[in-house]
Amino acid sequence: MTSVHGDLDTHDTGAAMFAPEAFGLGDAEAELIAQARRFGARVLAPRAAEHDRDATFPIENFRDMHGEGLLAICIPKDDGGRGAGFRTYCLAAAELGRYCGSTALSFNMHVCSTLWSGALSDDLDMSAADRAAHLDRRRRHYRRILDEGAVYSQPFSEGGAAAAGGVAFGTEARPTAGGFIVNGKKIFASLSGAADYYGVLCTERGEGEAASRRNTLYLAIPANAPGAEVVGDWDPLGMRATVSRTLVFKDVFVPEDAMLMPRGVYFQAATRWPHMFLTLSPTYMGLAQAAYDFAIRYLRGEMPGTPPVKRRMFPTKQIAVAEMHVTLEQTKALWFQAISEARANPRKEQVLRAYAAQFTVMENANALAAKAIRTCGGQAMLKSLALERIYRDSRCGSLMLPWTAEICLDRIGREALYEAGETDD
Ligand SMILES: Cc1cc2nc3c(=O)[nH]c(=O)nc-3n(C[C@H](O)[C@H](O)[C@H](O)COP(=O)(O)OP(=O)(O)OC[C@H]3O[C@@H](n4cnc5c(N)ncnc54)[C@H](O)[C@@H]3O)c2cc1C
Repeated sequence: MTSVHGDLDTHDTGAAMFAPEAFGLGDAEAELIAQARRFGARVLAPRAAEHDRDATFPIENFRDMHGEGLLAICIPKDDGGRGAGFRTYCLAAAELGRYCGSTALSFNMHVCSTLWSGALSDDLDMSAADRAAHLDRRRRHYRRILDEGAVYSQPFSEGGAAAAGGVAFGTEARPTAGGFIVNGKKIFASLSGAADYYGVLCTERGEGEAASRRNTLYLAIPANAPGAEVVGDWDPLGMRATVSRTLVFKDVFVPEDAMLMPRGVYFQAATRWPHMFLTLSPTYMGLAQAAYDFAIRYLRGEMPGTPPVKRRMFPTKQIAVAEMHVTLEQTKALWFQAISEARANPRKEQVLRAYAAQFTVMENANALAAKAIRTCGGQAMLKSLALERIYRDSRCGSLMLPWTAEICLDRIGREALYEAGETDD
C-alpha cells in the first residue's frame, strides 16, 4: 500500500527526498539518485549499526559501490564514468546519508578526488600544456577507480588554522627529481587504513621559499607508500565508521603524476568555485530526512523491531511532527537552491546562500534528530534502533571544516556588512 509517504510504510526504501517532477530533475539524474536510494536501503542500512558500534570501516560498502558504478559517479563520461555534475552528486549522496551517515561522509572524500579533478577543474583556467597534462594524469587516476575499485580519501585537516583556509597547509611537498618529498600530519583522516590513496592537500615549498596558500598541491599518495603511517585511535561520539585516524607522512616520495590538480589550480578552485566545500552537507541532508522518516514510521506504529503501538493520535505529537516537517522543508528548499547554483565565479549573494545552506543543514539535521527523540520517547533512543545513531552522527556536521557552523556565521556577518576591501578607518 502506498500513502502520501510514498512507499515508506510498506518497506524501507523511503520515497525520493527530492521528487523528480517537483524539483525538475532530468530522467538520467533522477535514475542515478534513485539507484543510490535503493542501494542505501538494501546494502548500507543493514550494515550500519555494527560498524557504528565497533568503529570499523565498512569497506564492503565501497566494494559494492564499485560494482554499482557509484565509485565512478563523478568521473566524466568521456573517461568512462557516470558523469554526474555537482547537483546530481549531492542529491545521490544525500540518499546514501539517509541509510548510513559514515558511509556517505567517507564516500564524499572519495568522490571529491574525481569531482575536483573533473567537472570543477574543467571550469578553471589552465594553460593548454597544463590542461593536456592534467587530462592525461586524471585519466590514469580514474582508471584505477574504474578497473580496480580503488578508493580515495581526502586528508585536509591538520589541527591548526590551515583547514579553515587561514594559512598554508603545514604538510609540505619539497620538489625533488621526478616528484616530491612529503612531510606532515593530517588529523581526522576518514578512511585511514582503508583507502588505497590519500588525496592529500599540502604546500609545495622549495628551498628558502615562504609557505603560501597559492602553492597548495593536491596529491594522490598511495596508502602503502614507504613513510606513510596511520597512528592514534578513533573512538568518537558519532560518525564512528568513518575511522578518521591520524596520518603521518615522513619523507614520503610521491611522483609528479600523483598531482590530482595542476599547480595553482586548487587555490583557484578554493577562491573561484567556493561551493566545492559544500560537498560535506549532503550526508547531513540525508540524516535530517532520516530523523523525520523515523518519527513518522515510529508514531504510526510501523517501525520494524518495535511493537505496533500507534502514538500519532496525540495532538502534541502532531504538532511536533508539523514543526519537524516545516524545518525539513525549509532545509531542503534552501539546500536545493544552493546546490543548483554551484558554479565557477558565483555572485556574492550565491556564496552567502551557500554558507547559509551549509549552516542550516548541519544545525537542522541535529535539531531534527533531537526533536525526533523527544517526540518518539524513551524506547526510540535505544541503541537497537537507528535514531540514536542518527542523533550522534548528525551532531558532527557543524564541526566540519572548512565551513563549520561558526565559520559560516562569521563569514555571512562580515560579508553582508562589508564589500570587498571596505574598512572602517
Ligand atoms: C566525523 C568526522 C570526519 C572527518 N573527516 C575528515 C576527513 O576525511 N578529512 C579531513 O581533512 N577532515 C575531516 N574531519 C575534520 C574536520 O574538518 C575538523 O578538522 C575536525 O572536526 C577538527 O576540528 P578542530 O577541533 O581541530 O577545529 P579547530 O581548528 O580547533 O576549530 C575549533 C572550532 O573553532 C572554530 N574556528 C576555527 N577557525 C576559525 C576561524 N578562522 N574563524 C572562526 N571560527 C573558527 C570552528 O567553528 C571550529 O569548529 C572530520 C571531522 C569529523 C567530525
